[in-house]
Amino acid sequence: MLPHVLSPVSAHCAACGQVADIVDGLPLCPDCLKELLKARRSYDALCPRCLSVLSMGCPCAVCKRDPERLVSRAFAPFRYRGAVRGLILRLKFSGDTQAAALLAPPMAEAAEDAKADLLVPVPLGKARLRERGYNQAYLLAMLVGHFQDIPVQECLVRVRNTKRQSGLHTIRERRSNLQGAFAMKPGTDLAGKSVLLVDDVRTSGATALTCARVLREHGAADVQLLCAAIAPGAGRYFRAGKKPGKTYRLSGRK
Ligand SMILES: [Zn+2]
Ligand SMILES: [Zn+2]
Repeated sequence: MLPHVLSPVSAHCAACGQVADIVDGLPLCPDCLKELLKARRSYDALCPRCLSVLSMGCPCAVCKRDPERLVSRAFAPFRYRGAVRGLILRLKFSGDTQAAALLAPPMAEAAEDAKADLLVPVPLGKARLRERGYNQAYLLAMLVGHFQDIPVQECLVRVRNTKRQSGLHTIRERRSNLQGAFAMKPGTDLAGKSVLLVDDVRTSGATALTCARVLREHGAADVQLLCAAIAPGAGRYFRAGKKPGKTYRLSGRK
């Protein structure tokens, strides 16, 4: 399930950053390793199409927002919490690219049925790319592409700087923040192609939906979404327009 990486006996855990005795060759402390395995197993009672928690109602809030089915299906090996959240935050904000190597193999496995022609990472804005040094969605797409033998095409670009989605708490704010944010690189032809859009986390689904619209406008026959994790219960907060409380934080920025 996960790659075996040679590590010293004592090392920084890739999820929580604490120095710990590393078990099983994975750069994870025993607690985070246990959590990571649990996060995969407790993956039930979800919308079969978009993987939202079904307590959000049926059809779920994310599917309701996509009546045209621009995103035909979502794949993700994990829910966004605990050790998985730790890995994603370290990948995004601590420059810890090792986390991508831990997330990508389960992602590739989760998307085995996608049968896509190409992988398209959700792009970062220029400023954020400069600040971070890499696009985490691109790293994940490259690794998944390697495992699945599918080409990666960076054909989407962010044409407008947007606020961090994680700082916006209602679906309306998130949607309008993304309006006109994405465009296709000139000369891209996606006619008849089945695209697997790759991102780190899906929360409200607004980013995937906006990207899918651009991909479809440029001929994509099908757009599916692959992310490392689905934020559990996020739809409930978005539907109610409530700000997430302490128990559920959308933003992990420390
Ligand atoms: Zn840990
Ligand atoms: Zn759904």
